[in-house]
Amino acid sequence: MIDVRVHEVISVRHITESTYVLRLERNGLDFIPGQYISIGKAGSIDKRDYSIYSSLADDFIEVIIREVKEGSVSKSLKKMKPGEKIELEGPFGFFRLKPEDELSGKFLFIASGTGISPFHSIAKSHPGLNYTVLHGVRHAEEGYDKKDYSNGKHILCTSRDGSGDYYGHVTDYLRENSVAKDTLCYLCGNVEMINDVYDILEEQGVPSGNMHAEVYF
Ligand SMILES: Cc1cc2nc3c(=O)[nH]c(=O)nc-3n(C[C@H](O)[C@H](O)[C@H](O)COP(=O)(O)OP(=O)(O)OC[C@H]3O[C@@H](n4cnc5c(N)ncnc54)[C@H](O)[C@@H]3O)c2cc1C
Repeated sequence: MIDVRVHEVISVRHITESTYVLRLERNGLDFIPGQYISIGKAGSIDKRDYSIYSSLADDFIEVIIREVKEGSVSKSLKKMKPGEKIELEGPFGFFRLKPEDELSGKFLFIASGTGISPFHSIAKSHPGLNYTVLHGVRHAEEGYDKKDYSNGKHILCTSRDGSGDYYGHVTDYLRENSVAKDTLCYLCGNVEMINDVYDILEEQGVPSGNMHAEVYF
């Protein structure tokens, strides 16, 4: 049976009109950066999966959520107030670095939208990691907490205007900047982006064993 835990809400930080960071009490929850939890308002039967955004060192748990227009849980969690309770299951999932790669591996993290979440947790938990994050959004305001990544390691690809580091989709960037075959590639976000990126990396000779994906929707 899966354990259901109750955690208090500490805060809701609104980053854009639709995207927010929900901070919860940690309550000793152990996890591996890259994993996700399943959460919902206490007393509600609805729960959804969210990757953990905070780092191992933090004494709280954070998730970053984009409110879905016709959605249920992403809407209700947005309205939560400090002190209110949520139910949490997990952590779950195998989208995480292999311990033997952490010291010597060269990582490329490719995300769309809130798919940046597991990479935020990984990058903050492992400050010495050799990584680049390629983050695909529409406008620069969606470059959530860009300052948290080491200098030059976060490339914001904006598809609607030139306000980011690169004007275009992550797929355009990858076609122009090919990836070395030995790079360990982690993909997270919507399924179209993941499929397209997978094909490009495969054409560039990255073996499928070096590619890992977490699909949000
Ligand atoms: C492993 C995993 C980790 C995830 N981590 C995150 C995360 O860190 N942050 C985050 O914001 N989301 C994440 N998601 C997506 C999240 O679980 C929910 O699907 C999302 O918040 C919508 O839930 P809802 O109850 O509001 O919408 P629902 O009521 O479930 O869905 C309403 C409608 O919106 C569609 N829909 C669902 N999700 C999206 C979306 N993201 N964009 C557009 N349409 C959508 C559905 O197909 C449905 O038609 C993750 C999903 C998985 C599987």
